[in-house]
Amino acid sequence: MKYAREYRDPELCRNLADRIKETCQKEMRIMEVCGTHTVSIFRHGIRSLLPEHLSLISGPGCPVCVTDQKDLDAFMELANRKDVITATFGDLMRVPGSDSSLQGKKASGSDIRVVYSTMGALDIARANPSKQVVFLGIGFETTAPTVSASVLAAKEEGLENYSVYCAHKLVPPALEALVNTPGIRIDGFLLPGHVSVVIGENGYREFFDRYGLPSVIAGFEPVDIMTALLKLTEMITTQTPALKNAYTRAVSENGNTEARRVMETVFKPCDAVWRGLGEIKDGGLSFRPTFADFNACEKFEINVSETVLPKGCACGDILTGRISPPECRLYGRVCTPLNPVGPCMVSSEGACAAYYKYKGPEMEKRGHK
Ligand code: SF4
Repeated sequence: MKYAREYRDPELCRNLADRIKETCQKEMRIMEVCGTHTVSIFRHGIRSLLPEHLSLISGPGCPVCVTDQKDLDAFMELANRKDVITATFGDLMRVPGSDSSLQGKKASGSDIRVVYSTMGALDIARANPSKQVVFLGIGFETTAPTVSASVLAAKEEGLENYSVYCAHKLVPPALEALVNTPGIRIDGFLLPGHVSVVIGENGYREFFDRYGLPSVIAGFEPVDIMTALLKLTEMITTQTPALKNAYTRAVSENGNTEARRVMETVFKPCDAVWRGLGEIKDGGLSFRPTFADFNACEKFEINVSETVLPKGCACGDILTGRISPPECRLYGRVCTPLNPVGPCMVSSEGACAAYYKYKGPEMEKRGHK
């Protein structure tokens, strides 16, 4: 906590808030791309410190939320198989597929195990040689290296009953997709801290050079976020866009090269479907041919028939910043954390769950404030 305290200094936050108010003299829309930022902004009451005309928009930074319905249904299909043990991180368990969730499947007898690391999934594979163990790989550049590491370990060990369903996503192509989506106005990006630890400042260079939108990498403490917001409002006001790193204690220029090496050994970029954004060129990861034996999609014939999106759910619009959660007509009435209709209400990093937790079901419809 010694170091965290400095980044939670109330006096410093108030000073930063004053400077943001001075700088932000016109309407601005800044997207926090990362779900952890969304939660941190609520937890620390940051919105209440900002001027009325500065809107923070929650973006597509929750891995569970952006996972396509078809992938979710494929997870259910795998879970139906008697010869398969499905291993997953806990945040996927309650996400609704077209007709059930993994939690529902487990209640009906499917063998689904929650693991806390990919190495836990390998342990299950070692302990159950007569079963196939499939790990459900979702998430961004943050989690993909650990999933790759499990594949490398399985290959080295000759563990033939382990595979991964790869639904990993890459963040920079999604930023590009957002900028190119009609009807979405974003004046600047608060870039995700965790992803940036892996891809570094340079991971966004190509995106920034192409679009020239103010972009700042931020950590998760209030001072981190407020500092990044100040940099963004300054750049927007003075029309001097730049790519900046306000999280230098964790993010370097080139990121974690070893994590990227491991990830790039096993996976390569591929076009991928994101909820809300559709298919994004090079927006995801797929297995390199050398590792095809560990690709669950190659190992099993997975037949997903027609997918059904949760009726009335506006997660796609929320993930792209078109609307805020209270503007979904199901928010707080039909859809609650206890009875989630869409993934954004399930995941602790989902925008709907964060709004509900910190603002309650009857939050005023004040757009993104
Ligand atoms: S409130 Fe529920 S139904 Fe509405 S967008 Fe969020 S998750 Fe979907």
